[in-house]
Amino acid sequence: SVGLGAPDKVVRTTCSYCGVGCQFDLNVKDGKIIRVTSTPDAPVNGMRLCVKGRYGYDYVHHPDRLTQPMVREYLLKGEPRKDKKNRGEWVKVDWDTALNIVAGKLNQIRTESGADSIGVLSSAKCTNEENYLMNKFARQVLGTNNIDHCARLCHASTVAGLAISYGSGAMSNTMQDIVENAQAIFVTGSNTTEQHPVFGTMIRQAVLKRGVKLIVADPRRIDLVDFATLHLQQRPGTDIALLNGLMNIILQKGWADEQFIAERTEGFDEFKANLQNYPPEKVSEITGVPLEQLYQAAEIMGTCKPMAVFWAMGITQHIVGVQNVLTLANLQMLLGNMGVPGGGVNPLRGQNNVQGACDMGGLPNVYPGYQPVASDAARGKFETAWGVSLSPKPGMTVTEMIPADGEGKIRALYILGENPVMTDPDVNHVRHCLEELEFLVLQEIFPSETSAYADVLLPGVTFAEKEGTFTNTERRIQRVRKAVEPVGQSRPDWEIISDLARRMIAVSNRKPAEAPQSGWNYGSPAEIMDEVASITPSYAGVSYERLDRGENLHWPVKGYDHPGTPILHIGQFTRGKGLFSPTTDVPPAEKPDAEFPMLMNTGRVLYHWHGGEMTRRAKGLMEVYPKPLIELNPEDALRIGINGNRMVKITSRRGSIVSEAWVTNRVPEGMVYANFHFPESNANELTIAALDPIAKIPEFKITAVKVELADE
Ligand code: SF4
Repeated sequence: SVGLGAPDKVVRTTCSYCGVGCQFDLNVKDGKIIRVTSTPDAPVNGMRLCVKGRYGYDYVHHPDRLTQPMVREYLLKGEPRKDKKNRGEWVKVDWDTALNIVAGKLNQIRTESGADSIGVLSSAKCTNEENYLMNKFARQVLGTNNIDHCARLCHASTVAGLAISYGSGAMSNTMQDIVENAQAIFVTGSNTTEQHPVFGTMIRQAVLKRGVKLIVADPRRIDLVDFATLHLQQRPGTDIALLNGLMNIILQKGWADEQFIAERTEGFDEFKANLQNYPPEKVSEITGVPLEQLYQAAEIMGTCKPMAVFWAMGITQHIVGVQNVLTLANLQMLLGNMGVPGGGVNPLRGQNNVQGACDMGGLPNVYPGYQPVASDAARGKFETAWGVSLSPKPGMTVTEMIPADGEGKIRALYILGENPVMTDPDVNHVRHCLEELEFLVLQEIFPSETSAYADVLLPGVTFAEKEGTFTNTERRIQRVRKAVEPVGQSRPDWEIISDLARRMIAVSNRKPAEAPQSGWNYGSPAEIMDEVASITPSYAGVSYERLDRGENLHWPVKGYDHPGTPILHIGQFTRGKGLFSPTTDVPPAEKPDAEFPMLMNTGRVLYHWHGGEMTRRAKGLMEVYPKPLIELNPEDALRIGINGNRMVKITSRRGSIVSEAWVTNRVPEGMVYANFHFPESNANELTIAALDPIAKIPEFKITAVKVELADE
């Protein structure tokens, strides 16, 4: 952007990448974004931005953008699809043709097989308003609770675990509060400096400027370790043993907050008895963490209060994801760190609006604001608002709509801005499931890896081309503002969903009655937010007027005169008393053996984002990180015989990938770390679809693999 001169206009908006929710100014000239600039007024980040936020915007104008609706030729001819593997040629069509085909086909499938034969995947990349509409489309227009989104793959276990312990599943404190008030910070299973980079910087500054004690528990030597007082390098999959062992010591040493436990919790005796199964010596053996480090960590936790706990996928993406979260919730109750400044449980949400997508009912068991579909009162409220009868049966999760056994029970999927062929576990199997689908509608900004399996492609727009709101990881609702016009014939997603809903209602026998919110003629996203506020207690006081005035609103915002709630659980938990849950360590679904002797851990890297659809189309980011790299310990590299040629082949029970090795001590011996940003070498070719029984989240973090030289 250097040399492009002064912009014609500057538009304040919210970053489209991670859940930190940085705000910045899009500088626009001749209808194009020429640069991103910081603003000291940004409430979360001030002048800070990470490399993705500052240089990752050129995907907005990339020539690969979808600019016109497309349908497969067989649909235009009114014929059935002939070949399961080959859906035929794409034909560019106008919006009327595309949406009428979608409405007609969905209505036909619904009439023949019932509403539950259709599934909807919403999007954590899209706005709150669009997620609300997807929830309403599934439930009101189609009549199914089969709606889910990528939160299933990242923090489903957090939402479920914290709901059990406290009654609500979100970050309890704010980032600013913690860096100002915490005496200790415990980060486990979060590579914060790469995945939530601006917040990673804030943590580092808290350590350097205030002397906050930082404990990092991670099998990898992540960058944050350089700033940590203590690095607990536990074996993968031993988090429950580690945490229970630390709590055992805390109790022994008299560092538990007895008053907090007595006044604000229940289930303590059973929990305490269970800790006797985790004496420090045994825990050291299970986890590989030296005994003295266990005592040091427990002492920091017990004596430096308040302590804030952070976690991300390293905790959640396990078959014991919910148990892991329950154990962290136990820890913070034991220490009395809940409902206080500088403390709390703080799951770091990944995508820009994954918190909002959950809040807006993009989940199969809850309406917006986590009001259960199984509750007569909640369902009655939405039936009155939307003018239809609604199903009391919770719907299918992503991992059930694209099921592990390949025996899908749904005939059609409507996907908004997700790319399961890159991001779901065991993608060979995902491809098979998508091939089996009778009808797939994909609403996207680029032709993604999933579009090969689609029957209709609807061109949506990027964050820079629409109005709306995102909710960041700390429950802060922020404005997204339109800076440039949509490319070609692409349309804001809220308009597409509304248009499709009107057409579906017109051809369907499911007609909403006259009711306060039954219509679909929205004039703007602000109107949609007004509707959200009218039926969602936690968003009851949210309006564009307040947000545009610069008010800082963290939900719950209980009314238009309510200031929002930066810290949750003050005085009492959402469920009343906090519930201690005894937890037991369980081995991973797949362990190393003679054939697959190493473990693969997966995740993202600083310069790329998720399936890479946007960051692989950002020139500045590709210059720094142009190809997939697999982290490999030097001892393993030596054993494999890496010498000059760094290309390695990694094989699991489900597939193989070839990639260049980055020989580094970041991973311990016996572990490789791979990402899922590049289709030519996607870690999810190898991952396993073993699920947590409660949250149905896959165990992305542990796959047994073998590693060999690629040319052998
Ligand atoms: Fe965007 Fe996250 Fe980077 Fe902030 S830290 S600029 S929200 S990617």
